[in-house]
Amino acid sequence: MSIPAEAIERARDANLVGVAQQCGVELKYGAAHKFTGQCPACKTRLSINIKTGVWSCEQAGGGPIEFVQHLDSIGFAEAIRKLAGAHGDA
Ligand SMILES: [Zn+2]
Repeated sequence: MSIPAEAIERARDANLVGVAQQCGVELKYGAAHKFTGQCPACKTRLSINIKTGVWSCEQAGGGPIEFVQHLDSIGFAEAIRKLAGAHGDA
């Protein structure tokens, strides 16, 4: 089973703040393009940089795909599918 490159591309471009909010994370806007909240997976401080599109908590970090993987403890393919669903075109 292969994942279309297009789907991966789209998942990478997903809006991190939107994805986090859909996952129930309460975010506060801070300085320097950063949103902060609590990571639902490991309960440590979560920070999202909207300028770079990168997030990090104390245990993990990355882009939207890694975010969904970390939160749901799922694999890469499943994360892509979940993000595609969030766009409404699963
Ligand atoms: Zn975490």
